[in-house]
Amino acid sequence: MTSLREAREATVWQETATGAPAVPGLDGESRAQVLVVGAGYLGMSAALHLAAAGVETIVLDRNEPGSGASGRNGGQVIPGLKHDPAELEAMFGVERGERLWRFAGSTADVVFDLIARHGLRCGARRAPWIQGVHSVQAASRARQRVDDWQRRGANVEYIDRTRTAQIAGTDLYLGAFVDHRAGALQPLSYARELARVAIAAGAKVHRDAHVTALVRDGGRWCAITSAGARVHARTVLLATNAYSDGLVPGLARSIVSLNSLQIATAPIPAASRAALLRNGETLADTRRVIRYWRLDDEGRLLMGGRGPYRDTRDANDWGHLAAHIRRYFPGLADVPITHRWGGRVAVHVDYMPRLHRPRPDMLTAIGCQGRGVAWQTAMGVELAKLVLDPDYDAVLPVTPVRPIPFHPLKAAGVASAIALWRALDRLGVS
Ligand SMILES: Cc1cc2nc3c(=O)[nH]c(=O)nc-3n(C[C@H](O)[C@H](O)[C@H](O)COP(=O)(O)OP(=O)(O)OC[C@H]3O[C@@H](n4cnc5c(N)ncnc54)[C@H](O)[C@@H]3O)c2cc1C
Repeated sequence: MTSLREAREATVWQETATGAPAVPGLDGESRAQVLVVGAGYLGMSAALHLAAAGVETIVLDRNEPGSGASGRNGGQVIPGLKHDPAELEAMFGVERGERLWRFAGSTADVVFDLIARHGLRCGARRAPWIQGVHSVQAASRARQRVDDWQRRGANVEYIDRTRTAQIAGTDLYLGAFVDHRAGALQPLSYARELARVAIAAGAKVHRDAHVTALVRDGGRWCAITSAGARVHARTVLLATNAYSDGLVPGLARSIVSLNSLQIATAPIPAASRAALLRNGETLADTRRVIRYWRLDDEGRLLMGGRGPYRDTRDANDWGHLAAHIRRYFPGLADVPITHRWGGRVAVHVDYMPRLHRPRPDMLTAIGCQGRGVAWQTAMGVELAKLVLDPDYDAVLPVTPVRPIPFHPLKAAGVASAIALWRALDRLGVS
């Protein structure tokens, strides 16, 4: 296996993505009904649905569409939340809980319907999501999850170790929860294609437009960029998620922004990948410190997992992912690793995403616990509905932002928690 040091520190998706839509920078003064800050899945889905409804919408991103987590992720389209239906009903009451699990269970459909309706070129395919079970306790939870969803009519099943090994290409999992509502796509292509169709629907999207201030100006918002451009809008949608900065005080401190890292191998010879997710399935496991993998359309193996809490600095930070490949797939030990990269995921301590109104006429959906491809696309539709009808009862309650007390300490605590979770995962007691 080629040393990680020789691998390019860049996402493999950049090399295989559909072309980026032409997106200009921004100067001077502009006006719109809605300003969206952030051009990932959330921002572009909201912008597309607003523009399609005839709402003048401007989207600003400090880099370009898909430069945040949306262009850097594993492309696993996973319905559902970390919490299962019965838990959601216990947390939110039966009525809201049922709405939530129905919504969560249908988020992959929202993605694939959008792709089909708009002809998005993003290598999308429907294929099962395999959640490999790493311990006896996790197996019992996975069986419960199957039972919980099956009673509600969802197309999920539990498979045993042999069947899991036949699909995953490794016998190191005790079994798996299989979700047939899932799928896969090329994440950067999906982000760019959402931007393309949002622009075609009438949204104005600008790159290199870092919003550094949002000020109230005669009952409207005025966004000021680092280059001094201004956008005036009635409503602001913050779609900055794990990349939230100090723009809205307290927002970045309401989440823990973790590193998720990935590596890609060179294309694997067809014979060696015949037993590896051959029907296009994607896989993640039940560990607290998750591992996930899939093949891309060129036959590369993409292995992902959590990184250190701090910013990554060194090729060694990806070392555990190379070790996973050697352990799960000893036959691939000689396949070169060509790329390593990472991005940020926004996590809440209770693993529940949030919908906030941080200020009047300002909304955000934040914190998808590393499962935002389907969720944030669907939440973009919810944000659009809330703009179009302020009385709309969204799927999540709209709550105020609650910064985590002593956030820097919490962050340090999370770093130690990750170390503890790793140890528990190893011992099989999680
Ligand atoms: C390595 C990795 C692997 C993952 N794998 C999966 C997976 O397989 N399946 C899954 O469902 N989820 C996965 N996720 C999570 C998923 O990618 C995210 O939940 C999702 O992309 C979030 O989309 P978003 O639009 O909310 O945020 P983002 O895509 O992060 O967009 C936020 C945008 O805001 C912009 N921004 C921030 N501040 C400002 C500002 N002040 N002014 C202007 N612009 C600003 C940023 O430039 C960025 O483009 C993964 C995440 C990572 C990092």
